[in-house]
Amino acid sequence: MTTLTYTSIEDIEKFHETARRAFDSGKTQSIEFRKDQIAQIGWLLRDNEDRWREALRADLGRHPQENDLLEFVSIYTEVNMAYKEIEKWTKAHSIGFSVNWFPMHPKYKAEPKGVALIIAPFNFPLFLLLGPLTSAIAAGNAAVLKPSEQTPATSQLLAELLPKYLDNELYHVVNGGVPETTKVLELKWDHSMYTGNGRVGRIVAAAAAKHLTPLTLELGGKNPAVVDPKVDVKMAARRLLWGRFSNAGQICLCPEYVLVPAEFQDTLVEAFTEAYQRFYPEGPEKSDSFSRIVTTAHAARIKRMLDGTKGKIVLGGQADVDNRYVAPTVVRDVPVDDVLMGEEIFGPVLPIVPVKDVDEAIAVIRAKDHPLAVYVFSTDKKFQDKVFKSTKSGAAVANETVISAGVPGLPVGGVGPSGYGYYSGKQCFEQFSHYRVSLDNPGWVDTVAFGFRFPPYKPDYKKHIGSLTGALPPRPGQKSAMKVVKRWGLWVVFALVGASSALLMKSGRFAQLKAPAQA
Ligand code: NAD
Repeated sequence: MTTLTYTSIEDIEKFHETARRAFDSGKTQSIEFRKDQIAQIGWLLRDNEDRWREALRADLGRHPQENDLLEFVSIYTEVNMAYKEIEKWTKAHSIGFSVNWFPMHPKYKAEPKGVALIIAPFNFPLFLLLGPLTSAIAAGNAAVLKPSEQTPATSQLLAELLPKYLDNELYHVVNGGVPETTKVLELKWDHSMYTGNGRVGRIVAAAAAKHLTPLTLELGGKNPAVVDPKVDVKMAARRLLWGRFSNAGQICLCPEYVLVPAEFQDTLVEAFTEAYQRFYPEGPEKSDSFSRIVTTAHAARIKRMLDGTKGKIVLGGQADVDNRYVAPTVVRDVPVDDVLMGEEIFGPVLPIVPVKDVDEAIAVIRAKDHPLAVYVFSTDKKFQDKVFKSTKSGAAVANETVISAGVPGLPVGGVGPSGYGYYSGKQCFEQFSHYRVSLDNPGWVDTVAFGFRFPPYKPDYKKHIGSLTGALPPRPGQKSAMKVVKRWGLWVVFALVGASSALLMKSGRFAQLKAPAQA
């Protein structure tokens, strides 16, 4: 097992100061410079793919395919998108034409916030740092990255490789545990992004509040999956199991529990059993397609939950804590107050909670904090809508799990206790940007328009104020009356145009008007 070298407290302070000085030097103002750094993130990964795979295998026991699909693809997508879109994202935006304001050339433009802090958890130890870093660089920031100490091989490799690819003054890696992160959090940052559990999220938010540092929190929660009998049950089963068992269930968007009508539970369990046997024909313990739990402490935590469940384990259930192995597990007949229905499991265990109907399923979801995703498996659009409209979550996904996070252009973010702010693409770029407005008002404007603002104030000031705002929308009760007036007004205009054309035709004026052209 790799030993992670922790960054000294002196070095943490030095990195913070160096990054600040480098940012203040104005280096990041050049879009070309930012593009080069963004491209380098791509090459930092591409040149060393095998080393990254090896490190991620050591930390999480992942198959290379799972790495490539869930971790690498996301980073390459972010790099390519930011590289391609940066000019669009950073250009100045004019407001629409307004007779009052156009002489001043009002504009707004995304500018960097300054020095950003990015703290990541263990489950996607590379993407959850390099993804936001790409956005932070696109926005023109300096950044300090704090990887998870629970993935020593990946975090050590990042500390080794990042300085070889990126500007050494602007971008830094701080490795360490709670004391190092606590030191990092004492410092003043211009934006912080934390991904991880809500308990530490609160610590990070309190630290950010001391400096009024703007913050993005990407937290966890319990994502429900509602299964309607009107569904291709085999498809639902394989997608649910894939979503729950990838990365050994350590994905923030994993389905955390399944709600199903009691009379459909047997059918669903049968479909799960079939999919399970296809996924792991020789059993999951022997399969190299199944990852490991990040630490023995987490493996023991998940085992304790399994030991305490009142549900019936129908698939898996074994645990070898010393080897960080918890079998992919399905538990049926799980009561709503079960230990598996409390905290986020964040492991390869899928509880099935039988319910009476969709209303009871919605009530179970609503009794919990808003999750990152609500999943519905149904071919019935009305059923899907009912669940989505009665609940709140970061994502509302039908007939799929997890992969919404990989769709370029769709932001990833929570709501309420699952977090605030967004990952990926333009929305992540905006987290690290500040929209700075600008205008330049020529002197003559005071003569023609804005002179009225200067004392002594005059009684006719209301005339000028009115021209600044325009008319208010109609009062709610008058809305339909306004619509009728508008609709009839349009007909009156049509009628008048028609009548005058007819008159002109009749009087022969059209022919006269056209005559010279024909001649
Ligand atoms: P973790 O234990 O690796 O911790 C995350 C970070 O917090 C680490 O860098 C760690 O050093 C730091 N930390 C830990 N304790 C601290 C303390 N007392 N003070 C200051 N810093 C501290 O990972 P985790 O938090 O267990 O991550 C798993 C959680 O992350 C899950 O809840 C998961 O749902 C969530 N998550 C959310 C998203 C998202 O996009 N919303 C993505 C991935 C994971």
